Amino acid sequence: MVFSIDFTGKNYIVTGGNRGIGLAITRSIVSAGGNVAILYRSSASAPQVAEGLEKEFPGVKVKAYQCDVTDQKRVGEVFKIVGEEFEGGIVHGVVANAGVAIVRDALEIGEEEFDYKTNVLGVFYTAQAAARIWIEKGFRQGSIVVISSMSSQIYNQEGLNKPLRHVFYNSSKAAVSSMSKALAAEWAPHGIRVNIVSPGYVATEQSGVHPKEVREFQSASVPLGRYSEPAEQTPQVLLLLSEVSSYQTGSEVFVDGGYLIW
Ligand code: NDP
Repeated sequence: MVFSIDFTGKNYIVTGGNRGIGLAITRSIVSAGGNVAILYRSSASAPQVAEGLEKEFPGVKVKAYQCDVTDQKRVGEVFKIVGEEFEGGIVHGVVANAGVAIVRDALEIGEEEFDYKTNVLGVFYTAQAAARIWIEKGFRQGSIVVISSMSSQIYNQEGLNKPLRHVFYNSSKAAVSSMSKALAAEWAPHGIRVNIVSPGYVATEQSGVHPKEVREFQSASVPLGRYSEPAEQTPQVLLLLSEVSSYQTGSEVFVDGGYLIW
């Protein structure tokens, strides 16, 4: 099978597409000719990021929309607006990437720090908004890619015999991976595919909260011996968004430098 990925004339939504892994995903979609609506929470620079990409890749549309994914009503509104403002009137694929990490002792963490609203419900609202529109319009080629984490499966350490204190993060990522598989099963009859990309350690602001010695320990524990660059997460996302993966749904792909081999 010979294939290429060409997103020319197609529209995508990337939550948290203004920085970190999400920005790398936005950039990769745009480089493949696709238009992107970036949904961001509060970064004032997001509209400039979108403008910069439009200048760098003439012919594509990139626009930023303020949208906290924990606000179900707003998510639904923004999906409708994007459908109206982007040529062709349909969003072809969605990347539910927005997420937060909180490192806290299990004996100290408070209820408000268990931010399932962002990591689980935010993904649900995003996926639901896409599926509602696709089912209503009878569009049977929609693809949703959820960015979870290898933390859906494994309990990391910040040093030898020093657990990472990720009780919220681990449980939220296990939930979001499981939820995405349930959605894949439920929406398969509508032709909607839902797949998961689960990164290992990636060099972004989120992982930058770990002190240097923790990041060095983590790098040494990865078979490939280092953190991933955000761009190294994008090939699997593009594949799963594209029709090349038309028979793939409900899968969780780990892009972790071999961490889960152990
Ligand atoms: P960053 O912290 O660098 O960026 C987070 C992005 O998510 C920002 O664009 C932020 O918007 C957006 N965001 C957060 N909360 C909300 C919200 N409630 N509504 C809308 N947007 C929101 O994160 P990463 O790029 O590192 O992580 C991206 C995803 O990858 C996350 O789901 C994360 O858990 C996952 N991941 C990351 C790993 C890593 O090592 N970095 C490893 C494994 C998985 P704004 O800029 O406006 O705040």
